[in-house]
Amino acid sequence: MTTPLLHLLDGLRCEICRCRDVLWLDPVRGLVECHECGQTAITLPAEDGGDAL
Ligand SMILES: [Zn+2]
Repeated sequence: MTTPLLHLLDGLRCEICRCRDVLWLDPVRGLVECHECGQTAITLPAEDGGDAL
């Protein structure tokens, strides 16, 4: 049962490889992954006041 709930972040650009429309959001894990260079970034919802930042 692998149902990837990935959403293409349309119009966004990867900070690493500068490619556009290659960032996919994984809302389950809170990750953004670039399918061009493989870079992943953790996106934390700013609900707790952002103490992790
Ligand atoms: Zn990239």
